[in-house]
Amino acid sequence: MSDALRTRHGKTLSLVIPMHDEAPVLDLLFQRLDETLGGLGVQLEIVCVDDGSRDDTWARLQARAARDPRLRLIGLSRNFGKEAALTAGLEMCRGDMVAPLDADLQDPPELIAEFISLWEQGYDVVYGVRADRSSDTRAKRWSAGAFYQLFNVVADQAIPASTGDFRLMDRAVVEALKRLPERNRFMKGLFAWVGFRQVGVPYTRPLRAAGSSSWPYRRLFRFALDGMTSFSTAPLRVWTLVGVGSAVVALLAALAIVIRVLVVGRDVPGYASLMVVILFAFALQMIALGVLGEYIGRMYQEVKGRPIYLVRDRVGFD
Ligand code: UDP
Ligand code: MG
Repeated sequence: MSDALRTRHGKTLSLVIPMHDEAPVLDLLFQRLDETLGGLGVQLEIVCVDDGSRDDTWARLQARAARDPRLRLIGLSRNFGKEAALTAGLEMCRGDMVAPLDADLQDPPELIAEFISLWEQGYDVVYGVRADRSSDTRAKRWSAGAFYQLFNVVADQAIPASTGDFRLMDRAVVEALKRLPERNRFMKGLFAWVGFRQVGVPYTRPLRAAGSSSWPYRRLFRFALDGMTSFSTAPLRVWTLVGVGSAVVALLAALAIVIRVLVVGRDVPGYASLMVVILFAFALQMIALGVLGEYIGRMYQEVKGRPIYLVRDRVGFD
Protein backbone atom coordinates (compact mmCIF):
# COMPACT_ATOMS: atom_id res chain seq x y z
CA MET A 1 0.00 0.00 0.00
CA SER A 2 1.17 3.48 -0.77
CA ASP A 3 0.96 5.29 2.54
CA ALA A 4 2.29 2.45 4.65
CA LEU A 5 3.46 4.91 7.26
CA ARG A 6 0.10 5.31 8.91
CA THR A 7 0.39 4.83 12.61
CA ARG A 8 -2.06 4.47 15.43
CA HIS A 9 0.23 6.45 17.67
CA GLY A 10 -1.59 9.45 19.12
CA LYS A 11 -4.75 8.60 17.18
CA THR A 12 -8.28 8.31 18.50
CA LEU A 13 -10.62 5.41 17.82
CA SER A 14 -14.34 6.13 18.03
CA LEU A 15 -16.70 3.28 18.73
CA VAL A 16 -20.22 4.05 17.62
CA ILE A 17 -22.77 1.86 19.37
CA PRO A 18 -26.49 2.14 18.54
CA MET A 19 -28.66 0.91 21.40
CA HIS A 20 -32.31 0.05 21.57
CA ASP A 21 -33.45 -1.53 24.83
CA GLU A 22 -29.99 -2.84 25.62
CA ALA A 23 -29.97 -2.39 29.41
CA PRO A 24 -29.43 -6.13 30.09
CA VAL A 25 -26.22 -6.21 28.08
CA LEU A 26 -24.56 -2.91 29.08
CA ASP A 27 -22.41 -4.21 31.95
CA LEU A 28 -21.16 -7.11 29.85
CA LEU A 29 -20.48 -4.80 26.94
CA PHE A 30 -18.33 -2.31 28.82
CA GLN A 31 -16.49 -5.07 30.63
CA ARG A 32 -15.57 -6.68 27.30
CA LEU A 33 -14.59 -3.35 25.81
CA ASP A 34 -12.26 -2.67 28.72
CA GLU A 35 -10.72 -6.13 28.47
CA THR A 36 -10.08 -5.97 24.76
CA LEU A 37 -9.43 -2.35 23.91
CA GLY A 38 -7.27 -1.25 26.82
CA GLY A 39 -3.99 -2.37 25.27
CA LEU A 40 -4.55 -1.13 21.74
CA GLY A 41 -2.38 1.97 22.07
CA VAL A 42 -5.05 4.36 20.85
CA GLN A 43 -7.26 6.88 22.59
CA LEU A 44 -10.83 5.71 22.90
CA GLU A 45 -14.05 7.60 22.38
CA ILE A 46 -17.20 5.56 22.96
CA VAL A 47 -20.24 7.12 21.35
CA CYS A 48 -23.44 5.45 22.55
CA VAL A 49 -26.61 6.34 20.69
CA ASP A 50 -29.78 5.59 22.61
CA ASP A 51 -32.35 4.94 19.91
CA GLY A 52 -35.49 5.61 21.92
CA SER A 53 -35.08 2.78 24.41
CA ARG A 54 -38.06 2.11 26.67
CA ASP A 55 -36.00 0.43 29.38
CA ASP A 56 -33.38 2.14 31.57
CA THR A 57 -30.59 2.08 28.98
CA TRP A 58 -30.29 5.88 29.08
CA ALA A 59 -30.19 6.14 32.87
CA ARG A 60 -27.51 3.48 33.06
CA LEU A 61 -25.47 5.13 30.34
CA GLN A 62 -25.65 8.45 32.15
CA ALA A 63 -24.48 6.93 35.40
CA ARG A 64 -21.56 5.37 33.57
CA ALA A 65 -20.66 8.54 31.68
CA ALA A 66 -20.37 10.40 34.96
CA ARG A 67 -17.45 8.13 35.87
CA ASP A 68 -15.97 7.46 32.46
CA PRO A 69 -14.74 10.44 30.40
CA ARG A 70 -14.36 8.29 27.27
CA LEU A 71 -18.12 8.02 26.98
CA ARG A 72 -20.22 10.37 24.89
CA LEU A 73 -23.96 9.89 24.80
CA ILE A 74 -26.55 10.82 22.23
CA GLY A 75 -30.19 10.27 23.12
CA LEU A 76 -32.56 10.31 20.15
CA SER A 77 -36.05 11.74 20.69
CA ARG A 78 -37.69 8.41 19.76
CA ASN A 79 -36.89 5.12 18.06
CA PHE A 80 -35.61 6.06 14.60
CA GLY A 81 -34.13 2.65 13.72
CA LYS A 82 -30.58 1.36 13.77
CA GLU A 83 -29.56 3.04 10.51
CA ALA A 84 -30.57 6.47 11.78
CA ALA A 85 -28.89 5.87 15.15
CA LEU A 86 -25.68 4.89 13.39
CA THR A 87 -25.89 7.99 11.23
CA ALA A 88 -26.22 10.17 14.33
CA GLY A 89 -23.16 8.53 15.88
CA LEU A 90 -21.08 8.80 12.73
CA GLU A 91 -21.93 12.46 12.36
CA MET A 92 -20.96 13.34 15.91
CA CYS A 93 -17.94 11.14 16.56
CA ARG A 94 -14.50 12.67 16.23
CA GLY A 95 -12.02 9.81 16.00
CA ASP A 96 -9.38 9.32 13.33
CA MET A 97 -10.72 5.80 13.01
CA VAL A 98 -14.37 4.93 13.52
CA ALA A 99 -15.86 1.52 14.26
CA PRO A 100 -19.62 0.92 14.46
CA LEU A 101 -20.43 -1.91 16.83
CA ASP A 102 -23.59 -3.74 17.92
CA ALA A 103 -24.32 -3.39 21.62
CA ASP A 104 -25.12 -7.09 22.05
CA LEU A 105 -21.50 -8.21 21.49
CA GLN A 106 -22.38 -9.98 18.26
CA ASP A 107 -19.57 -7.94 16.74
CA PRO A 108 -16.59 -9.22 18.77
CA PRO A 109 -14.46 -6.22 19.85
CA GLU A 110 -11.38 -8.52 19.88
CA LEU A 111 -11.33 -8.14 16.11
CA ILE A 112 -10.66 -4.42 16.30
CA ALA A 113 -6.96 -4.99 17.00
CA GLU A 114 -6.64 -6.72 13.64
CA PHE A 115 -8.75 -4.02 11.98
CA ILE A 116 -6.34 -1.37 13.22
CA SER A 117 -3.30 -3.28 11.94
CA LEU A 118 -4.86 -3.43 8.50
CA TRP A 119 -5.72 0.25 8.71
CA GLU A 120 -2.05 0.95 9.46
CA GLN A 121 -1.18 -1.00 6.32
CA GLY A 122 -3.17 1.54 4.35
CA TYR A 123 -6.69 0.15 4.10
CA ASP A 124 -9.38 2.78 4.59
CA VAL A 125 -12.18 0.35 5.36
CA VAL A 126 -11.70 -2.97 7.14
CA TYR A 127 -14.99 -4.84 7.39
CA GLY A 128 -15.97 -8.00 9.23
CA VAL A 129 -17.25 -10.90 7.13
CA ARG A 130 -19.52 -13.38 8.91
CA ALA A 131 -17.79 -16.61 8.01
CA ASP A 132 -20.20 -18.79 9.94
CA ARG A 133 -23.75 -17.69 10.49
CA SER A 134 -24.81 -20.70 12.53
CA SER A 135 -25.92 -18.34 15.30
CA ASP A 136 -28.74 -17.14 13.01
CA THR A 137 -31.88 -19.18 12.39
CA ARG A 138 -32.09 -21.11 9.12
CA ALA A 139 -34.88 -18.93 7.81
CA LYS A 140 -32.82 -15.83 8.50
CA ARG A 141 -29.71 -17.24 6.83
CA TRP A 142 -31.68 -18.33 3.80
CA SER A 143 -33.46 -15.02 3.39
CA ALA A 144 -30.23 -13.08 3.90
CA GLY A 145 -28.47 -15.22 1.27
CA ALA A 146 -31.29 -14.72 -1.21
CA PHE A 147 -31.27 -11.01 -0.54
CA TYR A 148 -27.53 -10.55 -1.19
CA GLN A 149 -27.72 -12.53 -4.42
CA LEU A 150 -30.67 -10.59 -5.75
CA PHE A 151 -29.22 -7.31 -4.55
CA ASN A 152 -25.91 -7.85 -6.28
CA VAL A 153 -27.63 -8.79 -9.54
CA VAL A 154 -29.79 -5.69 -9.72
CA ALA A 155 -27.92 -3.03 -7.74
CA ASP A 156 -25.53 -0.53 -9.26
CA GLN A 157 -23.02 -1.11 -6.46
CA ALA A 158 -22.45 -4.66 -5.19
CA ILE A 159 -22.08 -5.22 -1.46
CA PRO A 160 -19.81 -8.01 -0.20
CA ALA A 161 -21.94 -10.94 1.02
CA SER A 162 -22.36 -11.56 4.75
CA THR A 163 -21.08 -8.22 5.90
CA GLY A 164 -22.87 -6.15 8.49
CA ASP A 165 -22.16 -2.72 9.83
CA PHE A 166 -19.21 -4.00 11.87
CA ARG A 167 -16.07 -2.41 10.41
CA LEU A 168 -13.33 0.13 10.95
CA MET A 169 -13.25 3.24 8.79
CA ASP A 170 -10.73 5.97 8.27
CA ARG A 171 -11.86 9.52 9.02
CA ALA A 172 -11.86 10.29 5.27
CA VAL A 173 -14.48 7.58 4.71
CA VAL A 174 -16.66 8.92 7.51
CA GLU A 175 -16.46 12.40 6.02
CA ALA A 176 -17.52 10.93 2.67
CA LEU A 177 -20.48 9.19 4.32
CA LYS A 178 -21.52 12.44 5.95
CA ARG A 179 -21.92 13.96 2.50
CA LEU A 180 -24.64 11.47 1.51
CA PRO A 181 -27.82 13.32 2.38
CA GLU A 182 -30.43 10.65 1.66
CA ARG A 183 -33.05 9.89 4.24
CA ASN A 184 -33.19 6.27 3.26
CA ARG A 185 -30.17 5.06 5.18
CA PHE A 186 -29.30 1.62 3.90
CA MET A 187 -25.89 1.71 5.58
CA LYS A 188 -24.43 -1.46 4.05
CA GLY A 189 -25.15 0.02 0.63
CA LEU A 190 -23.77 3.44 1.54
CA PHE A 191 -20.63 1.85 3.00
CA ALA A 192 -20.02 0.04 -0.29
CA TRP A 193 -20.96 3.03 -2.43
CA VAL A 194 -18.27 5.35 -1.05
CA GLY A 195 -15.52 3.00 -2.17
CA PHE A 196 -11.92 3.62 -0.91
CA ARG A 197 -9.47 0.80 -0.25
CA GLN A 198 -11.50 -1.93 1.42
CA VAL A 199 -10.61 -5.32 2.84
CA GLY A 200 -12.64 -8.01 4.64
CA VAL A 201 -11.74 -10.01 7.75
CA PRO A 202 -13.70 -13.24 8.37
CA TYR A 203 -15.09 -13.92 11.84
CA THR A 204 -17.64 -16.13 13.50
CA ARG A 205 -20.70 -14.30 14.70
CA PRO A 206 -21.57 -15.29 18.26
CA LEU A 207 -25.05 -15.33 19.78
CA ARG A 208 -26.49 -12.20 21.31
CA ALA A 209 -24.93 -11.84 24.80
CA ALA A 210 -28.20 -10.84 26.53
CA GLY A 211 -31.50 -9.11 25.82
CA SER A 212 -33.44 -9.73 22.62
CA SER A 213 -33.26 -8.76 18.97
CA SER A 214 -35.23 -5.72 17.84
CA TRP A 215 -35.70 -6.90 14.27
CA PRO A 216 -38.98 -8.69 13.67
CA TYR A 217 -39.37 -10.19 10.20
CA ARG A 218 -41.73 -7.43 9.11
CA ARG A 219 -38.98 -4.94 9.80
CA LEU A 220 -36.32 -7.01 8.05
CA PHE A 221 -38.52 -7.20 4.96
CA ARG A 222 -38.97 -3.42 4.94
CA PHE A 223 -35.21 -3.11 5.36
CA ALA A 224 -34.50 -5.37 2.39
CA LEU A 225 -36.98 -3.45 0.24
CA ASP A 226 -35.41 -0.14 1.27
CA GLY A 227 -31.98 -1.43 0.34
CA MET A 228 -33.09 -2.75 -3.00
CA THR A 229 -34.98 0.35 -4.08
CA SER A 230 -32.40 2.85 -2.92
CA PHE A 231 -29.58 1.17 -4.82
CA SER A 232 -31.31 -0.06 -7.94
CA THR A 233 -33.88 1.11 -10.44
CA ALA A 234 -34.05 -2.34 -12.04
CA PRO A 235 -37.46 -3.13 -10.47
CA LEU A 236 -38.72 0.03 -12.13
CA ARG A 237 -37.21 -0.63 -15.53
CA VAL A 238 -38.14 -4.30 -15.77
CA TRP A 239 -41.79 -3.36 -16.34
CA THR A 240 -40.99 -1.78 -19.68
CA LEU A 241 -39.58 -5.12 -20.79
CA VAL A 242 -42.51 -7.07 -19.38
CA GLY A 243 -44.91 -4.66 -21.09
CA VAL A 244 -43.20 -4.97 -24.47
CA GLY A 245 -43.04 -8.75 -24.07
CA SER A 246 -46.74 -9.11 -23.31
CA ALA A 247 -47.63 -6.72 -26.12
CA VAL A 248 -45.73 -8.89 -28.59
CA VAL A 249 -47.43 -12.05 -27.28
CA ALA A 250 -50.86 -10.35 -27.43
CA LEU A 251 -50.22 -9.22 -31.02
CA LEU A 252 -49.18 -12.70 -32.13
CA ALA A 253 -52.25 -14.17 -30.44
CA ALA A 254 -54.52 -11.64 -32.18
CA LEU A 255 -52.93 -12.44 -35.52
CA ALA A 256 -53.38 -16.18 -34.96
CA ILE A 257 -57.06 -15.67 -34.07
CA VAL A 258 -57.76 -13.55 -37.16
CA ILE A 259 -56.07 -16.04 -39.45
CA ARG A 260 -57.95 -18.88 -37.79
CA VAL A 261 -61.31 -17.12 -38.24
CA LEU A 262 -60.48 -16.42 -41.91
CA VAL A 263 -59.35 -19.98 -42.60
CA VAL A 264 -61.51 -22.24 -40.41
CA GLY A 265 -64.40 -19.92 -39.66
CA ARG A 266 -65.81 -18.57 -36.41
CA ASP A 267 -64.63 -20.30 -33.25
CA VAL A 268 -66.63 -21.18 -30.14
CA PRO A 269 -66.67 -18.04 -27.96
CA GLY A 270 -63.61 -18.41 -25.68
CA TYR A 271 -64.87 -17.12 -22.38
CA ALA A 272 -62.28 -18.92 -20.23
CA SER A 273 -59.24 -17.90 -22.20
CA LEU A 274 -60.50 -14.33 -22.29
CA MET A 275 -60.82 -14.21 -18.51
CA VAL A 276 -57.34 -15.63 -18.08
CA VAL A 277 -55.83 -12.97 -20.30
CA ILE A 278 -57.74 -10.15 -18.61
CA LEU A 279 -56.82 -11.30 -15.11
CA PHE A 280 -53.21 -11.76 -16.04
CA ALA A 281 -52.96 -8.32 -17.57
CA PHE A 282 -54.70 -6.84 -14.54
CA ALA A 283 -52.25 -8.51 -12.17
CA LEU A 284 -49.29 -7.21 -14.16
CA GLN A 285 -50.65 -3.69 -14.02
CA MET A 286 -51.16 -3.88 -10.29
CA ILE A 287 -47.61 -5.10 -9.72
CA ALA A 288 -46.23 -2.37 -11.94
CA LEU A 289 -48.27 0.23 -10.07
CA GLY A 290 -47.01 -1.16 -6.77
CA VAL A 291 -43.41 -0.83 -7.92
CA LEU A 292 -44.03 2.74 -9.02
CA GLY A 293 -45.61 3.39 -5.64
CA GLU A 294 -42.52 2.11 -3.81
CA TYR A 295 -40.29 4.54 -5.65
CA ILE A 296 -42.67 7.48 -5.50
CA GLY A 297 -43.10 6.88 -1.76
CA ARG A 298 -39.35 7.07 -1.34
CA MET A 299 -39.11 10.20 -3.44
CA TYR A 300 -41.78 11.73 -1.22
CA GLN A 301 -39.69 10.85 1.84
CA GLU A 302 -36.63 12.48 0.34
CA VAL A 303 -38.46 15.55 -0.95
CA LYS A 304 -39.90 16.31 2.47
CA GLY A 305 -36.30 16.62 3.59
CA ARG A 306 -36.99 15.79 7.21
CA PRO A 307 -33.95 15.22 9.40
CA ILE A 308 -32.81 11.59 9.67
CA TYR A 309 -33.01 11.72 13.48
CA LEU A 310 -33.75 14.17 16.27
CA VAL A 311 -31.57 14.51 19.34
CA ARG A 312 -33.25 14.73 22.73
CA ASP A 313 -30.16 14.85 24.89
CA ARG A 314 -26.38 14.86 24.62
CA VAL A 315 -23.78 14.08 27.24
CA GLY A 316 -20.04 14.65 26.94
CA PHE A 317 -20.04 16.87 23.84
CA ASP A 318 -18.82 20.42 24.37
N1 UDP B 1 -30.81 -1.17 17.30
C1 UDP B 1 -31.10 0.19 17.30
N2 UDP B 1 -32.37 0.59 16.93
C2 UDP B 1 -33.33 -0.29 16.57
C3 UDP B 1 -33.01 -1.68 16.54
C4 UDP B 1 -31.73 -2.08 16.91
O1 UDP B 1 -30.27 1.02 17.62
O2 UDP B 1 -34.44 0.14 16.27
C5 UDP B 1 -29.44 -1.61 17.69
C6 UDP B 1 -29.41 -2.66 18.77
O3 UDP B 1 -29.45 -2.07 20.05
C7 UDP B 1 -28.09 -3.35 18.51
C8 UDP B 1 -27.96 -3.28 17.00
O4 UDP B 1 -28.83 -2.22 16.58
O5 UDP B 1 -27.00 -2.66 19.09
C9 UDP B 1 -28.33 -4.59 16.33
O6 UDP B 1 -29.65 -4.93 16.70
P1 UDP B 1 -30.09 -6.41 17.03
O7 UDP B 1 -29.06 -7.11 17.84
O8 UDP B 1 -31.47 -6.31 17.62
O9 UDP B 1 -30.17 -7.02 15.57
P2 UDP B 1 -29.73 -8.49 15.08
O10 UDP B 1 -28.35 -8.73 15.61
O11 UDP B 1 -30.74 -9.39 15.66
O12 UDP B 1 -29.78 -8.38 13.61
MG1 MG C 1 -27.76 -8.60 17.47
